Amino acid sequence: MNHRAGCIFCKIADGKAPSEIVYQDDTIVAFRDINPGAPVHVIIIPRIHISSLTEVTTKHRELMGHLIEVANEIAKAEGIAERGYRLIANCGQDGRQVVPHIHFHLLGGQQLPNKLD
Ligand code: AMP
Ligand code: ZN
Repeated sequence: MNHRAGCIFCKIADGKAPSEIVYQDDTIVAFRDINPGAPVHVIIIPRIHISSLTEVTTKHRELMGHLIEVANEIAKAEGIAERGYRLIANCGQDGRQVVPHIHFHLLGGQQLPNKLD
């Protein structure tokens, strides 16, 4: 696996940093955000280190499709699928991406603010 030294999300995926994991399989890990912005706030990542959305290419097609499928399953398990939710990936400096390992925020459990941040 192409781990990036010091990457906190690689460490979580490897079980080498603490987290509250809600889902994992061979390629995807999902865990609760340590600073939740909504009643349900789950971070969903691929196990492989991809820096951001801009690094996604055709070779990741199956992985990214699976990630969205997993997000839908987690939304159902968390009881937010029916009322709705957001699946967000911040990218780069203007997108205010802080952790440089691609991740999707699954947010729900309340009506979310009608603004960008
Ligand atoms: P961003 O890179 O801006 O999309 O956001 C990164 C998100 O990761 C933030 O919501 C943080 O609260 C969250 N986060 C950072 N470190 C951890 C961690 N060790 N465990 C769980 N969530 C984290
Ligand atoms: Zn990483």
